[in-house]
Amino acid sequence: MLAHKSKWCVAKGCNNNITEKRHFFSFPKEHDRWLQWIHACQRLDLQVMGPEYAYRNCRLCHLHFEEKWYKIGKIRAHLYPDAIPTIFFERE
Ligand SMILES: [Zn+2]
Repeated sequence: MLAHKSKWCVAKGCNNNITEKRHFFSFPKEHDRWLQWIHACQRLDLQVMGPEYAYRNCRLCHLHFEEKWYKIGKIRAHLYPDAIPTIFFERE
């Protein structure tokens, strides 16, 4: 099976053993929020790459957001612009 790079959540401990359908959200380009996301998902290694890199290559799945931050439509999910991921599990 081919793994699509874009369909991959960067949160540690995610991707494994998750069978439910997930929606993926791109990292924000806006500097402050980009930093907040990186800190929230404990991926400080991404900081040196800059926000543009994260925006293009990194995704978080909807499992890391409280339901109030997103809306799942028929075709795709929409994340509100001020959403911050807060739900993480099994940190290494
Ligand atoms: Zn995830």
